[in-house]
Amino acid sequence: MTNSTRDIKSLDLHGIESALSDLGQPAFRVRQVVRWLYGRGVAGFDEMTDLPGALRVELAARYSLGRPTLSAKEVSADGTRKYLWELHDGTTVESVGIPAGDRLTVCFSTQAGCGMGCTFCATGQSGLTRNLTPGEIADQVLGVAADMAARVSNAVAMGQGEPFANYEPTLAALRFMNSPDGMGIGARHLTVSTCGLLPGIRRFSAEPEQFTLAVSLHSAVQATRDAMMPGLKGYPLGQLREALAMYGVRTGRRPTLEYALVANTNDSDAELAALVTFCRGLLCHVNLIPVNPVEGSGARRPDDSRVKAFEMALASTNVECSVRTERGADISAACGQLRQRHLA
Ligand code: SAH
Ligand code: SF4
Repeated sequence: MTNSTRDIKSLDLHGIESALSDLGQPAFRVRQVVRWLYGRGVAGFDEMTDLPGALRVELAARYSLGRPTLSAKEVSADGTRKYLWELHDGTTVESVGIPAGDRLTVCFSTQAGCGMGCTFCATGQSGLTRNLTPGEIADQVLGVAADMAARVSNAVAMGQGEPFANYEPTLAALRFMNSPDGMGIGARHLTVSTCGLLPGIRRFSAEPEQFTLAVSLHSAVQATRDAMMPGLKGYPLGQLREALAMYGVRTGRRPTLEYALVANTNDSDAELAALVTFCRGLLCHVNLIPVNPVEGSGARRPDDSRVKAFEMALASTNVECSVRTERGADISAACGQLRQRHLA
């Protein structure tokens, strides 16, 4: 790959449309190209056998076609697989494939690293390296599907990075995953998890697709949340609640509120009371996640009795709630444990 050519996988659907129309191509070529790039995941333009030869040559002269290379893979006793992909510039990102019965969920990254600095998160400890392109995001899902030789039923933006700090490329990637010409994953089976960037939540509410939203709440007490998620100053809880209420009104869908329970931090009765107050009357589902201890963070898991207390209190106030079961613990494939170890 040379520096003078642009990677065709850095384009969104509209960019591919423009690229082909600039070359005087009819509209139906767009679907053909998307099928090759995101349905089949080809390695080069010469493999796009239903395009005229001259067009393949022209595309190859103008564009590169980047694909990540697999640089490491770990397989858990429970079948969960963790992948480390190397991108064209040596940057690395991680993804996880989680099989369950006939379902396969892929957890993908939207940035290399993350600039939000959440104290309990491994990715947050090393800062942001860079944003990923649509292709670099979507290719993780294609890569896991190929390695596991299975159709991906669900994909979640819960790997490294804050998706709404890289909004357009993330949405473009979700659209390639959703497209029948791409991976054909139903919109409701595509989930974005945000730490709570309000402009992103508002914008996401107005997207035409029925993508699923998850928001990392982690505390309904402002001071606690500020300490756990220092990158979120300027986005107070009251405004988050308003944005979530608006999301419910606009979409009719129920966002998930993620709550990583950390001993002596956000697991007290006062925290629980604040959480119940936050959720009461809000269309939402709370997902309690006993924190995965990350080296250097000091965050510890609470006793099971605290998890149970949260679960019972939410249920008794008619707030929908579940406790996340851990997968891939033996290979550190769980939330917040994804971290680049081979820095470029
Ligand atoms: N940046 C986005 C998405 C990636 S993180 C976000 O923060 O929502 C996916 C989820 O894992 C988030 O809810 C995040 O808060 C949570 N998480 C991060 N570190 C964790 C840890 N050590 N234990 C449990 N959950 C963690
Ligand atoms: Fe970034 Fe999410 Fe980790 Fe916070 S929890 S540092 S937003 S990846």
